[in-house]
Amino acid sequence: MTQEVNSLFTNALVLTMDPDFTQYFPGAVAVKEDKIVAVGSEDELKKEYASRAQETIDCKGKILMPGLINAHTHVPMTLLRGLADDLRLDVWLMGYMMPVEREFVSPEFVRLGTLLACAEQIRSGVTTFNDMYYFEEDVAKATAEVGMRAVCGQTVMKFPAPDAASYDDSLQMARDFIQRWKDHPLIVPAISPHAPYTCTAEILRATADVAKEFDVPLHTHLAETAFEVENMRNEHGMPVIPYVKKQGLFEAKVIAAHCVHVDTGEMRTLLHAGAGVSHNPSSNLKLASGFAPVVKMLETGLNVGIGTDGPASNNDLDMFEEVRLAAFVAKAVTNDPTSLPAPWALLMATRLGAQALHIGHLTGSLEVGKRADLILIDISPLHNAPSFKRDPQNAYAQIVYASKSSDVSDVMVNGKWLMRDHQLLTLNEAELLAQAAEIAKKIDVFLIEREQSVLSKLIALGGSLEEESFEVQVKVKIAEADPIIQALQRPEIDVIRERHYREHDVYFFFDDPLQGRLRYREDDFINDSKGTVTNVRSRLTLIGQKREGKLGDEVLLSRSRYLAPASQSLRFYREYFKPKSEVVIEKDRLRWLVLYKDTEFFVNLDQMREPQLGYYLEIKSRTWSRKDAENKAELASELLSVLDATSGEKVTEDYIDIVNEA
Ligand SMILES: [Zn+2]
Repeated sequence: MTQEVNSLFTNALVLTMDPDFTQYFPGAVAVKEDKIVAVGSEDELKKEYASRAQETIDCKGKILMPGLINAHTHVPMTLLRGLADDLRLDVWLMGYMMPVEREFVSPEFVRLGTLLACAEQIRSGVTTFNDMYYFEEDVAKATAEVGMRAVCGQTVMKFPAPDAASYDDSLQMARDFIQRWKDHPLIVPAISPHAPYTCTAEILRATADVAKEFDVPLHTHLAETAFEVENMRNEHGMPVIPYVKKQGLFEAKVIAAHCVHVDTGEMRTLLHAGAGVSHNPSSNLKLASGFAPVVKMLETGLNVGIGTDGPASNNDLDMFEEVRLAAFVAKAVTNDPTSLPAPWALLMATRLGAQALHIGHLTGSLEVGKRADLILIDISPLHNAPSFKRDPQNAYAQIVYASKSSDVSDVMVNGKWLMRDHQLLTLNEAELLAQAAEIAKKIDVFLIEREQSVLSKLIALGGSLEEESFEVQVKVKIAEADPIIQALQRPEIDVIRERHYREHDVYFFFDDPLQGRLRYREDDFINDSKGTVTNVRSRLTLIGQKREGKLGDEVLLSRSRYLAPASQSLRFYREYFKPKSEVVIEKDRLRWLVLYKDTEFFVNLDQMREPQLGYYLEIKSRTWSRKDAENKAELASELLSVLDATSGEKVTEDYIDIVNEA
């Protein structure tokens, strides 16, 4: 029995993207409410529905196909587009994105960024996107208002985030959000542990539990860089995929972004887990993350979609560009121009993408019963003419290799028009652009201020703390080490503990000496009986100017020091702080903690290896009061004579000053 329909699309080249790649030309599609009720030849559908359609759309020979699926993005980052580029992933993320996000990201920011992203994506033929960000409920609200479809993942990670002081808070936010949005017609709520390296094993397990409990997707970044995989091997003795499997992650419906560095065994693990993958060629190319084994993943049977990643690492949300790159890169990497042909590249951006997001039953192809998420593409412009009809493959090639996002003229999601003849119907672009310009101004001011001071850049990384202390330090240059080691056995000295390590200091200097100097210190602790390095400790210290000078013969000084755990590599700090020059000092240090006349001192016996400056003996103590420092300075002098080291040449400078003079 024939039914009433809302829209009848006629005179189109219909690419269904169904499992048989069925095409109809001239073809037609009938839509009733939010669903596709018929797909077929124009003749048949006209007979059936022409008299019963509220609206008949003459597609004028354009391509009618399912809307594109952006399988991985962070939509509010439209507001951070172009903020910091040409940087390595860690410097970009930890040095720029996260500090700016901590300062600026709010529900209003997220809303504006989402609206901008929706406008851009609708114009690029995207009808569904898979997102991960903070305040994800506000992403969901804005997206639903606009009328797009999205999987919205609330971020959970081990660091304090703009929307949550702790991981417990973000986990609770995710639960509440999922419960409130569980049955929404456009939004699929999800949970997003950011990545294995920004989460703990406990967080991964907890997020998988929430995803299972509510049967929602779990969206995360996996195996994006070789560095991530190498760290995982060093810390846990296995690559990323087995590690997250061990934490129970694959018990959930996983959407894994990137998977650049995975082997065939890991691909099978992903397949058995039913995990979807998002391939993000622009982001991987721009951040030089590597080349995802896309062809192998597809051969394995994985649902691999295509994503733009966030607009701050792409820098746009143009899926046409992304699909073309996916095809081109796959050909170059396999050295085979037949790899990833156009129909498959387009399939990744439609049906496979929807399947990767675990919403293949809803969208991704033009099939009866699926939601009416569809687009019209004009293939008549100069850059895409002429058209050949001999081989049905030509239509896919026209879209993948020559179409531009600006060729998308009309977009419908869930049976509702979002764009007609290039006009956005649910968004005001001019207003959104003006608001974005205002926020950009504020972020510029914030960063200009921060970049002026080494200290504020250090604080922006988080975790630093100031310490101002009095430091008693007696240092002498000595000829030999052995007599000192012997003298330490004298009865008036009580050795509490002894350490041996190689200290490797890199000092960063800046144009303005008032900025102080930054020391990256790495201590390699040595087990003397085995001669092996037992552990490595890294610290970052910003050493300010001295505030007080000498006291008598000894050095008593007060200075500010800002300590931060050096959780990143030396290379990271070098690229982040951009020092004017660097000096490296390496020494072999024997260190004793001793008790002399009821007072604790550190005795450091240093052999300067880089540069080779011989032996130095240092007696040190740090204290918080000036009075205490004066007493200790006297005792330190005494201790020097007990160690028979008073004949050595006294030095009142730090090593870096000694080295600079030498
Ligand atoms: Zn991402």
